[in-house]
Amino acid sequence: MQNLLETPIEFLKGVGPARGDLLRKELDIHKYGDLLHLFPNRYIDRTRYYRINELQNSGAEVQVVGKVINIKTVGEKKTRLVATFTDGTGEMELVWFQGQKWIRENLKLNTPYVIFGKASSFNGVFNMAHPEMEPLAEHEQSLRSAMQPFYPSTEKLAQKGITNKVVSNIMQQLFRETQAKFSDPLPPALIEELKLIPKNAALFNIHFPKSQEILARAQFRLKFEELFFIQLQLITKNLIRKHKIKGHPFTQVGAYFNDFYNNHLPFGLTNAQKRVIKEIRNDMGQPAQMNRLLQGDVGSGKTIVAMMSMLLALDNGFQACLMAPTEILANQHFIGLNELAKPLGINIKILTGSTKTSERKIIHEQLESGELHIIIGTHALLEDKVQFKNLGLAVIDEQHRFGVEQRSKLWRKNDIPPHVLVMTATPIPRTLAMSLYGDLDISVIDELPPGRKPIQTVHRFDSNRLKVWKFLKDEIAKGRQIYIVYPLIQESEKMDYKDLMDGYESISRDFPLPQYSVSIVHGKMKPAEKDSEMARFAAGKTNIMVATTVIEVGVNVPNASVMVIESAERFGLSQLHQLRGRVGRGAEQSYCILMTGHKLGNDTKTRLETMTRTNDGFEIAEVDLKLRGPGDIMGTQQSGVLNLQIADLVKDRDILMLAREHALKLLKDDASMTKPEHAALRHAFIEMGKKKNIWNYIS
Ligand code: ADP
Ligand code: MG
Repeated sequence: MQNLLETPIEFLKGVGPARGDLLRKELDIHKYGDLLHLFPNRYIDRTRYYRINELQNSGAEVQVVGKVINIKTVGEKKTRLVATFTDGTGEMELVWFQGQKWIRENLKLNTPYVIFGKASSFNGVFNMAHPEMEPLAEHEQSLRSAMQPFYPSTEKLAQKGITNKVVSNIMQQLFRETQAKFSDPLPPALIEELKLIPKNAALFNIHFPKSQEILARAQFRLKFEELFFIQLQLITKNLIRKHKIKGHPFTQVGAYFNDFYNNHLPFGLTNAQKRVIKEIRNDMGQPAQMNRLLQGDVGSGKTIVAMMSMLLALDNGFQACLMAPTEILANQHFIGLNELAKPLGINIKILTGSTKTSERKIIHEQLESGELHIIIGTHALLEDKVQFKNLGLAVIDEQHRFGVEQRSKLWRKNDIPPHVLVMTATPIPRTLAMSLYGDLDISVIDELPPGRKPIQTVHRFDSNRLKVWKFLKDEIAKGRQIYIVYPLIQESEKMDYKDLMDGYESISRDFPLPQYSVSIVHGKMKPAEKDSEMARFAAGKTNIMVATTVIEVGVNVPNASVMVIESAERFGLSQLHQLRGRVGRGAEQSYCILMTGHKLGNDTKTRLETMTRTNDGFEIAEVDLKLRGPGDIMGTQQSGVLNLQIADLVKDRDILMLAREHALKLLKDDASMTKPEHAALRHAFIEMGKKKNIWNYIS
């Protein structure tokens, strides 16, 4: 059977070279097996037949059995073909505007047909335009007599006459040629336990279901199988990594860590921070590479965790690096970590795109000689010239900004890869994390440092700006600072820039010198200018920071207590949450004000409502996932990962959990899948691994 499924698609009767070509180009269908896995994306229930005297003017698609008793051409210039159709309970009209000649020649009078289409009533008579028609005799034999599947298609396919009906027909042909026998990879015990229908039945009924019930069971079975294999893959990879990918075991907790912990911690750690540091310490103590995702809401204190993890690397004679997505953020980390590291006598430097050549040279040399302990930087760290003496730990901040490839590039710099700690402030819902990063270990900081007051978030319309400005002036009078953020969306950079500049001008007018001073930071400024503006604001020399989303990630100015987000309707949920996280870092009550126009779509309303209701990043991520779908959340780079054939990570999360649970159980019992009852499973698993598959690139 396996071989038969490898047969090139053009050999299937009814396909041939021309259609084969189209199927390849348009739907990526090359072989029988690909066609088999072209699953319908909707179905119409054709298990029921209506009588003409039962028809309702509901616009529903219905099928009726009856005969055509006469046919005529109506109209002069623009003619149409009208047939009278009867089933004994009444009469209705069938109408064609196109293909009239063909219908006239081929339609048989007084012969039972099954017609299908949308019935609508006009002047008391029901009519159906361009009905699908099939002689009753054929209909009864056809596999397609029950629920009608609708297959994914493209404009080109439709143009070239590969209609849904044609696809259905070749699908039937496929089942005839293959005799509908497909081997079942799932172990019998699992099928039994979960009461799954056999693979054969599932594939048959996904294409030709006779009822909604059997369709649901077929879908369940195939979704489960898809998610089960993904979980097997991820879990196996994790096991292999733990056993095979060597890592530097950090066995010592030494002078740097202890000195810092005992004498220089600027604050007491939260329990969550302590727990996470312990997890990281244990993991890095093993002779296997750590590959860990550190999730923590904005402001939860991930930086100190990164710092202490890096100290462990140093204690064991290794170097560490921290990579950030923007220059501002790298700088901020550098300033913060440098401050913390000062009493420890650590050599720590920063490398970004704007590092001077002479400085760059020194850094390169010191990294190679091992003189430099910690390097902080941007993408510049990935350049070939950057060679470490012995990199033991790579910390990556705000992971979603880096592609998978970039991550692995950092690894390839050493024979034994460094431990990797990926920090993200965009919490990924558990189900998604599990599917995407099932092979990463996850630590979660689920507690904010003490004394933080929840940020109060409100939504205001642009028409209420005066009141908002008054509020800002009151806050400034109390000594607070304010962010006002404008959207920056690549496609309309020019317009965004104009919005920002207009905004800046009017803010400067409304908050005039000398009483007020306003800073501005945007993407068109040189890094040095940005930094000096940021520094002025951070030092409290200006009251208001007008900015684009360049400040989205990581900036830390505890005295800033109000975040105004302009055109909030143009931001995604996670972005809004990130921006809001810039405030609420000090002891003062902080506020986030979402400004919008009056016209708002439903999704926007949901986003605003979510933001004003909760500060919980995980809850927000769940809503975001529902609104946008997982592909979007991960960005285009990783959306390929989610190219599932039938399962949907949002809708099918229960099945995902079930699949994971059973995959774990099975691998615990038979990690290499070598038991005889797992032979088919193992075979399918290996076949799947051979396919070029994005999962192989994830970590
Ligand atoms: P994020 O997780 O968003 O990167 P940071 O590491 O920047 O958060 O920490 C946010 C702020 O909270 C910083 O000013 C940091 O010094 C402070 N902070 C972190 N941990 C604690 C703690 N345990 N107690 C008090 N303040 C803390
Ligand atoms: Mg941070």
